[in-house]
Amino acid sequence: MPIYIDLDLCDQNEDCPAATYCLYGALYFDHSENKLKYDREKCQNCGTCVNHCGPGALYYAKDDEELNMLVEELKRLKEI
Ligand code: SF4
Repeated sequence: MPIYIDLDLCDQNEDCPAATYCLYGALYFDHSENKLKYDREKCQNCGTCVNHCGPGALYYAKDDEELNMLVEELKRLKEI
């Protein structure tokens, strides 16, 4: 269940609640680059972050195939 961050929606909040709820350090604010980052190697696929993202910028998929379909669909919807 990889996570996808829609950077058009993410508000890059350094106090991002979604990152706060990530107990594995997989979603975090990088102060040196001033942006939210996701470390897929650390992600435990719990889905908790998705439920705590205010702007609705986080999506998850059950596998890479579903993730790719999701990203393509989001791109398509933005073109409309
Ligand atoms: S799915 Fe769970 S482990 Fe992965 S980034 Fe979100 S909160 Fe962290």
